[in-house]
Amino acid sequence: MRVAVFGGTFDPPHIGHLFGALCVGHELRLDRVLMVVANDPWQKSGGGQREVTPASQRLAMLQLAVAEVPALEPSSIELDRGGASYSADTLETVHDTYTTPAGPPEIFLVVGSDAAAGLGTWKRTEVLRKLATTVVLERPGKGAGGRPPSGWEYELVVLPELEVSGTRIRERVAAGKPIDFLTERPVITYINNNYLYRTKSP
Ligand code: ATP
Repeated sequence: MRVAVFGGTFDPPHIGHLFGALCVGHELRLDRVLMVVANDPWQKSGGGQREVTPASQRLAMLQLAVAEVPALEPSSIELDRGGASYSADTLETVHDTYTTPAGPPEIFLVVGSDAAAGLGTWKRTEVLRKLATTVVLERPGKGAGGRPPSGWEYELVVLPELEVSGTRIRERVAAGKPIDFLTERPVITYINNNYLYRTKSP
């Protein structure tokens, strides 16, 4: 069993995540791509940089986004565990969950090139390196060219350029601009119905 852990804030999920996850699954011949929603993304919520949408709503949007894509599986592992989200804990859960009498799963930890450079600051890096092969998703634009610290082994998957990010989508919604085609239609409906990313209430 070859399984990838593709973690993210997914606030909101968009075509960059979906297409990226799909490409990784194809390139690495994976059986599953787990899209793991960060419960409390300490690197984004810490220091009060911005208010992150509640995890249950981000999971709901991800479920809507991949509903018709069997290759991608939304995962609530980090919500179920609660508290701050650390990939080392998640890899341990995935390792235990997918171990069968035939042996342990082969796990791939997917990180964007923007995040790769900071891997050395993540918790329990020895667990990350022991339990998974790191896969760097070369993300053109934001953080392009970022790589893990020296000595850290990794595989590289280069993506076609897609100029989209959660930040850009939130900014567009706040400015009243359309986000059609940047994410799936049911996600847009969810954002509108729940009045996400607007600065003022209706
Ligand atoms: P934000 O703009 O809010 O910081 P984000 O869109 O970068 O968010 P995350 O949910 O934090 O998204 O990202 C999850 C993973 O998806 C990360 O590894 C990130 O690098 C990757 N990713 C996000 N957008 C793209 C994109 N357009 N192309 C490729 N990878 C992407």
